[in-house]
Amino acid sequence: MSGLPIYLDYNATTPCDQKVLDAMLPYFTHKFGNAASRSHAYGWEAEEAVKFAREQVAALINAIPEEIVFTSGATESANLALKGVFEMYGAKGKHLIVAATEHKAVMDTALHLERLGAEISWLGVNADGLINLQELEGAIRTDTLLIAVMYANNETGVVQPIRRIGEIAKRHQVLFFSDATQAIGKVSVDVIRDHIDVMAFSAHKIYGPKGVGALYVRRKQPRVRLSAQMDGGGHERGFRSGTLNVPGIVGFGKAAAICLEKMEPEARRQEALRNKLEAGLLNIEGTVLNGGSKSRLPQTINVSFRGIEGNSLIAGINKEIAVSSGSACTSALPEPSHVLKAMGLDDELANSALRFALGRETTEKEIDFVIDRIGSVVKQFREKQLENFNI
Ligand SMILES: *Cc1c(COP(=O)(O)O)cnc(C)c1O
Repeated sequence: MSGLPIYLDYNATTPCDQKVLDAMLPYFTHKFGNAASRSHAYGWEAEEAVKFAREQVAALINAIPEEIVFTSGATESANLALKGVFEMYGAKGKHLIVAATEHKAVMDTALHLERLGAEISWLGVNADGLINLQELEGAIRTDTLLIAVMYANNETGVVQPIRRIGEIAKRHQVLFFSDATQAIGKVSVDVIRDHIDVMAFSAHKIYGPKGVGALYVRRKQPRVRLSAQMDGGGHERGFRSGTLNVPGIVGFGKAAAICLEKMEPEARRQEALRNKLEAGLLNIEGTVLNGGSKSRLPQTINVSFRGIEGNSLIAGINKEIAVSSGSACTSALPEPSHVLKAMGLDDELANSALRFALGRETTEKEIDFVIDRIGSVVKQFREKQLENFNI
């Protein structure tokens, strides 16, 4: 075991791979050039490194390098996608279709656009967390600009029927945006096969550095246009101005290349551990699996422990196990997850949810320990409740 607390929050962030860090380091010091400096070797060296990283990132999603726009992360990418489309295609309309289970980066951007006059159709999900394709098709109007459905959910790991959504979008000539931040590097993502037009993702969820991400922007069939959200020197073909984060981009490229190599064996290894964890947790009385259909990431599991407040449980175990409730709630007042509520959970069950997200460094020993610890802590909570009830 690699020490306590055991990290099972890989959907929040991942450690930077040592090989990624090694690739980045020279670009902080002696290879410090600005990739936009065209007049000397320092600039050329940085430009060359960015070019190589762009190829590596593109290869992970079957895109061409010219379709990759580097940003500061998936949040910025989602903002650029939604706001950029809304501003650019205003003549066609102002209707957007957005899944109710989107990450805040997409949901809050859609809400921002709603205040600017966008009309949003929110797509609900079933108990398994999946959208309904007929409902999606029925929501499309002549003035619909964009469909936004995430590839895989960060809280539950539920994977949407992306290729079929892409087919529907294409048939109706509506742009399809997908937040693939959780899918990249865990399952095969192919922008051609999946008919994705615009796609957001991030380095720090795939063992790369924090603060760097990308937006895939399709170049043909159709050629997607976006209104820039960051004006300035015209970097990234005008989509995103600002001096490139060369070390971060180099690390992102390396992380993408490692994913291509490790994805399949790691998915199989982590899935086996996840299934063991799942069986162990479901053995505990009063445990409910959230989003447990076949269509989900291999390394995520979300469960509710009936009658136990999730945050109290987390506080009770966080010296030994680092997990989260799954919803990136930054406010002081914890609200029940909008994702779990959209799946039909009541507030109490939603508030008793925990997300376990495995990663490359997760071992079987750790999983055995976690099953054991969670089992006894849940039992303690239940006994205490019973005592209080009897008093
Ligand atoms: C982490 C995450 C984001 C935000 O990514 P950043 O790079 O941290 O801005 C967006 N969407 C999903 C699904 C995520 O998991």
